Amino acid sequence: MELGYVSGQAAREIHGVVLADGERAVDAAATASLRRQIREQRLARFGRRPREGQGEGRPALMLVGEYLKVVTSGDEKVFACARCDEELGSAAGNYKQRCLVDDRPMTEASPAIGDPARYVDEDYVLRQFYCPGCGSLIENEVTRRGEPPLWDVELHQTQRLGDLDLPGEGFADDVEAVQSSQPRSEPPTWGR
Ligand SMILES: [Zn+2]
Repeated sequence: MELGYVSGQAAREIHGVVLADGERAVDAAATASLRRQIREQRLARFGRRPREGQGEGRPALMLVGEYLKVVTSGDEKVFACARCDEELGSAAGNYKQRCLVDDRPMTEASPAIGDPARYVDEDYVLRQFYCPGCGSLIENEVTRRGEPPLWDVELHQTQRLGDLDLPGEGFADDVEAVQSSQPRSEPPTWGR
């Protein structure tokens, strides 16, 4: 697979990973330092600085991704950054609308992605969603320039609902399932 190939340069520029030992190992200290720099640079592009004194914050009711969790805020369920606890809106909404959105050239995705012209013709971009609190990269998507953000969590819910394209009612049920915090080895069945 083309995208499976990651050079040392791409590892550094895209994933914020510094490789050592002839690119066979990760330099953990250098990686942590580079990632901090990258987060600061992302925020700086939006005229922001990282908030000070951040901790991990509230425990996650659900981890949606490496840097995205669902937490309780008052009597509501909200998305929050798993790294700095910054709230990213209602769990029934689209967290991407609360992120900093940075459309990057497709050529930044990977030097091995193939002929960039076929993307440039279609005007595709690598759209990155950053936490507005700490600058962590919460999600990537490849999209046409100017398109609204994909609603990937809604898509996830739709998948769990099978062919029933009814995220509204099913989603409310699922939020309740999150609230109960029961370990769940299989997706819930929706009356089928
Ligand atoms: Zn954050």
